[in-house]
Amino acid sequence: MGFAVSDEVLGTFAPIVIYWVYSGIYALLDSFENYRLHSKIDEDEKNLVSKRTVVKGVLLQQTIQAVVAILLFTVTGNDSGDAAGPKPSLIVLARQFVTAMLVLDTWQYFMHRYMHHNKFLYKHIHSQHHRLVVPYAFGALYNHPLEGLLLDTIGGALSFLLSGMSPRASIFFFSFATVKTVDDHCGLWLPGNLFHFFFRNNTAYHDVHHQLYGSKYNFSQPFFVMWDRILGTYMPYSLDKRAGGGFETRPLKDYKDA
Ligand SMILES: [Zn+2]
Ligand SMILES: [Zn+2]
Repeated sequence: MGFAVSDEVLGTFAPIVIYWVYSGIYALLDSFENYRLHSKIDEDEKNLVSKRTVVKGVLLQQTIQAVVAILLFTVTGNDSGDAAGPKPSLIVLARQFVTAMLVLDTWQYFMHRYMHHNKFLYKHIHSQHHRLVVPYAFGALYNHPLEGLLLDTIGGALSFLLSGMSPRASIFFFSFATVKTVDDHCGLWLPGNLFHFFFRNNTAYHDVHHQLYGSKYNFSQPFFVMWDRILGTYMPYSLDKRAGGGFETRPLKDYKDA
């Protein structure tokens, strides 16, 4: 028999490879000043952490997550084998995908908001992610390891279990969620970006959250703006031309500061 990689292993490692490939492409486009949401100068001045530290932080994060994911897959595995059972129909797959998206969004919204509400958790855990005031693609998963575990790994496990998707489907779901998260941090407003077209929760929306004026708003991630809308943490913003090229997000003029 040939070399076979189980779906569980792929579901764990494909998102990691895709993370670096996708954010690597964005790193190449980094100097497109006309599409950036912040200037390069701002990136260097406002960010509180070096790129080297960010890379190390993300790698540590991904290592821990991979170990936990393999453990979770092992514990929850049904031993059905890859080819066993009928293939789910497209409708079933779509339903599982949407369910997983809603579960992940719900989990992440409340955990994320609580991390801002609780001063101890913010100071010791979530503030690490906010060291990137000017987000860039490979900083997307720059988090405290405990945050990665709580928000991403447990959130991912819940969405996997509650949606009932197979390990094979989860390869695509987790890869998609990874690409979406990287895109939300890319810091570029490129024409033709389909995420910007299909999702209100996108690069500009999450950029608002990384700014001082928006840090108590736009907690929703990574897919929809639903919970911000329902619970009143949605900050309306505009995307304007920035002096010196590119774009910038701004709170709408009549918006009262909280
Ligand atoms: Zn935050
Ligand atoms: Zn972020």
